[in-house]
Amino acid sequence: MAKHVLIVGGGYVGMYTALRLHKKLRRELKRGELQITVVDPQSYMTYQPFLPEAAAGNLEPRHVVVPLRRVLPRATILNGRITRIEHANRQAWVEVVGGASAEGVGGGQSGRTAETRVLSYDVLVFCPGSISRTLPIPGLAECGIGFKTVGEAIYLRNHVLAQLDIAASTADEQKRKRALTFVFVGGGFAGVEALAELEDMARDACEYYPNIEPSDMRWNLIEASDHILPEVGLDMGRWTVEALRQRGIAVKLQTLLKSAEGHHIVLSDGEEFDAGTLVWTAGVKPNPVVKQTDLPIDEKSRVKATAELTVEGVADAFTAGDTAAVPDLANPGNFTAPNAQHAVRQAKTLGDNVVASLRGKQLEPYKHAYAGSVASLGLHKGVAQIYGVKMRGLLAWFMHRTYHLSRVPTFNRKARVTADWTLAFFFKREVVSLGVIQRPREEFELAARKD
Ligand SMILES: Cc1cc2nc3c(=O)[nH]c(=O)nc-3n(C[C@H](O)[C@H](O)[C@H](O)COP(=O)(O)OP(=O)(O)OC[C@H]3O[C@@H](n4cnc5c(N)ncnc54)[C@H](O)[C@@H]3O)c2cc1C
Repeated sequence: MAKHVLIVGGGYVGMYTALRLHKKLRRELKRGELQITVVDPQSYMTYQPFLPEAAAGNLEPRHVVVPLRRVLPRATILNGRITRIEHANRQAWVEVVGGASAEGVGGGQSGRTAETRVLSYDVLVFCPGSISRTLPIPGLAECGIGFKTVGEAIYLRNHVLAQLDIAASTADEQKRKRALTFVFVGGGFAGVEALAELEDMARDACEYYPNIEPSDMRWNLIEASDHILPEVGLDMGRWTVEALRQRGIAVKLQTLLKSAEGHHIVLSDGEEFDAGTLVWTAGVKPNPVVKQTDLPIDEKSRVKATAELTVEGVADAFTAGDTAAVPDLANPGNFTAPNAQHAVRQAKTLGDNVVASLRGKQLEPYKHAYAGSVASLGLHKGVAQIYGVKMRGLLAWFMHRTYHLSRVPTFNRKARVTADWTLAFFFKREVVSLGVIQRPREEFELAARKD
């Protein structure tokens, strides 16, 4: 009987692990001796470090995702959400997409009931990643948006440009001020890059709005600790704060968001103002589906992993990435940080260890010393620290692009990303809001109502 490997999550760890299994177990897959199933609500893997550039219009959103069915032709891709795992019985429950909560063409309920499938498997690879870590702040759930998915990146691009349209068209000074106020909470990779790229885009767009000067906009970065971008080191983080401030961006350290009810922002330092945009990027937490499994979890709700990327004390189960507490052998006593650098490398070791376990061979431990990080702060601006070498400005930005181009999976994606960047080099970026795609039936409903 064919062995069945179930991969939960087709993100960094899931997709790269499946690619590794495709490469190493080609013969077994061809002969039908092995079956791989990847379960993910999305049909694509998102290259998250490119989301800020997609939001800023430097990259076509479709080019920052990798279609799973195209790159994994021998795997079964099941689009759905794992809702429960009983590993003791080697069974997983999947709520298939298009169930009760799916919207019909008309945006109403489809009337379909949720379809749940129960899958049996032999080997589990558990890597459903993380979700935004939110706090019970009044108004946050209603007014805020995260920055983890390609949908959020596209939405924010349209939203920011739509705010400029509102500001340029209204005669109400308060409304204009609110539209031109943008708040980002959280000074890690996602928050700083998203803010810097979107501010850069909005600044460029002001050229086409005769009644909006870049200085009319108010961009705010709110960070609870006393530093930002810990990934590039404290001094480069301090340099980034100054670079952002010189661009007119208000960077508030050791400050908390207290409330955002009705888009009225209240900060812990007593400042209050209205903002049309609130982006929450204050960290991530392991996917809560971990609690619907019989896998062991730690006090931070991460799946307990061994250095070999197996689940601690459990046979035939592997884990890695943002969901897992992986011992950091390069930094004893610590766990590896939730980032793409570890996720990609862990996937390689994990894939090899799945192969080794299927062949009854010795598993290898995962060990990688953090190489540093690169971050983009808008067109031609960046900050980086790689193997202790600090870079800033154009050089860091160039390193950011070169590094990520080398990392983005498949030749097809590399070519498309290069083409996007080359076009952006010769032509100005498009600064039109297509927010209407989030309300596709508005015009039709209006027409239908008139009759
Ligand atoms: C905007 C942004 C920028 C970033 N930039 C960098 C950077 O420059 N450098 C860096 O090192 N890291 C960066 N990161 C972090 C990096 O992207 C993550 O650490 C990495 O994606 C983790 O990989 P993963 O496989 O654990 O999770 P993911 O890649 O998030 O994959 C998890 C997958 O599981 C799926 N899933 C979720 N729930 C279920 C379920 N119930 N059932 C089935 N599937 C499910 C999801 O749809 C997703 O496809 C960035 C993150 C963000 C958000």
